[in-house]
Amino acid sequence: MAEIVLDGVSKRFPDGTTAVHDVNLTIADREFVILVGPSGCGKSTTLNMIAGLEEISAGELRIDGVRVNERAPRDRDIAMVFQSYALYPHMTVRENMAFPLTLAKTPKPEIAAKVQHAAELLDLTALLDRRPANLSGGQRQRVAMGRALVRDPKAFLMDEPLSNLDAKLRVQMRTSISRLQKRLGTTTVYVTHDQTEAMTLGDRIVIMESGLVQQVGAPQDIYDHPANRFVAGFIGSPAMNFLPAEVHDDGLHTVIGTIPVRRAGLPREVVAGIRPELFQDTRIRHGASFTGTVDIIESMGAEKLAYFTFEPGTSFTQETQVVARLDAKSPISEGDPTTLWYDPAAVHLFHPETGVNLT
Ligand code: ATP
Repeated sequence: MAEIVLDGVSKRFPDGTTAVHDVNLTIADREFVILVGPSGCGKSTTLNMIAGLEEISAGELRIDGVRVNERAPRDRDIAMVFQSYALYPHMTVRENMAFPLTLAKTPKPEIAAKVQHAAELLDLTALLDRRPANLSGGQRQRVAMGRALVRDPKAFLMDEPLSNLDAKLRVQMRTSISRLQKRLGTTTVYVTHDQTEAMTLGDRIVIMESGLVQQVGAPQDIYDHPANRFVAGFIGSPAMNFLPAEVHDDGLHTVIGTIPVRRAGLPREVVAGIRPELFQDTRIRHGASFTGTVDIIESMGAEKLAYFTFEPGTSFTQETQVVARLDAKSPISEGDPTTLWYDPAAVHLFHPETGVNLT
């Protein structure tokens, strides 16, 4: 059992920087929670406070109901996996993995059994006598995981553990971490700036920006119901299209024409948010449409991205780019006037100043 509770947790550095502001979060036993956000948003600082590597300036951190603010990292029964792996170059894989247990003066036969078990789980058995210099990046990463695993800790904390791997390996390791976490059922808090990693790995995602939690939820819920414009733009790839819109009786006037959405109680101006994947080509003529000229098509294999540029007009002073994600068979081509269709009910509306989702 390992429930981690952050109760109004903040971090203020001596130079006055507030890196984390009033975070309230309950991480359930066995849960896999991802802290995600752009560089500098405070995710590593939050993780370091849970680990005990960074002092908590305000609020309380509880593990299984016990306040641990003042407890040293080694007394929190938590294992951390770093981006750098932090392996000892002069030790073999076996010695590296055994290290935390050797330090804790665990009896030798018990160490051997635990290392063996972790090596089997991580497919490292054949590599136990090698040194880190003779391992690939992915193998080193697994050794770092193994070293965390042998301790059988209450929780794993991982700070960008895959960021040093190439794209293909990252995807492979992502699925193996996911499988391992499900199998072990150990509470895990995982930091990443990569929204795909966040979407695919976590039971729940915590999206942070400027030290503040912007939204907490299951990946699909966050994608479907982003709380604000920041979250809407951060989750989803390519990012959501944002169009300044004037609210009129017949709908929202935007650079792509009128979006037939009529809602009471909207401010005079809003920002309309349309996911690139909401657009359909002329094979599915349904809902509302707009017509524009495709500047550029990027072929991605299974799908293609079509970019439109709308020049500033009388009411909209900014050039606006709109991207649509269509399947590879879509009969569109660069330079042609093209009509795309979308469901106006799925358009998000954001407050122009606060960014709050009004839909
Ligand atoms: P990254 O992905 O780049 O690691 P992050 O989201 O993990 O970013 P943090 O490392 O938690 O962000 O940093 C949050 C904020 O706190 C940043 O503005 C950073 O500059 C600041 N910060 C971090 N450590 C210190 C420190 N020791 N003293 C002052 N400010 C710090």
